[in-house]
Amino acid sequence: MENHNPYLLYLKQLTDEAQTVKYHLDREFFAKFASDQIVDGCVDVGIDIRKNASDACLCLDFDGVIDIICDRCCNTMPLHIDTKENVVVKFQAEYPDNKNDTILADAKTGVLDISDYMFETLILQIPIQNFHREGECNPAMIDKLKKYLKEPEKSRSDPRWEALKNINK
Ligand SMILES: [Zn+2]
Repeated sequence: MENHNPYLLYLKQLTDEAQTVKYHLDREFFAKFASDQIVDGCVDVGIDIRKNASDACLCLDFDGVIDIICDRCCNTMPLHIDTKENVVVKFQAEYPDNKNDTILADAKTGVLDISDYMFETLILQIPIQNFHREGECNPAMIDKLKKYLKEPEKSRSDPRWEALKNINK
């Protein structure tokens, strides 16, 4: 059985010279996470790695498109990704006190599965609200929503109240 994980970085095995690893994240990658936020995508990631004895510095450069969900019509819409992230990878078992921008590789082997970090970085690029541009939503879905959201007709007067009014007359 093929059980090769292409996203494992064997950081301790690298020489101390800077090097670059490249990934192409596609449907197969995103399917693995089964996320309802990123449905699909096509993103190139270049990772510049500088490693020394106790840690490694990774500079990740993301460029591509992910498919996210429109909050208005619930269909997919593309979101362009163009971002860089720097992260320090420590070869230790526990996070340091100041763990900002730090992730941990296996303390002994220095092996890191970088796929989670790449996915999380993409998730963080998604704005809180996402809409197709005006007029680009799925029209069938919008019709349905309009029907659903239509304000209930002005509540007709309640016959019981009408009866009470008459009592006071
Ligand atoms: Zn839409």
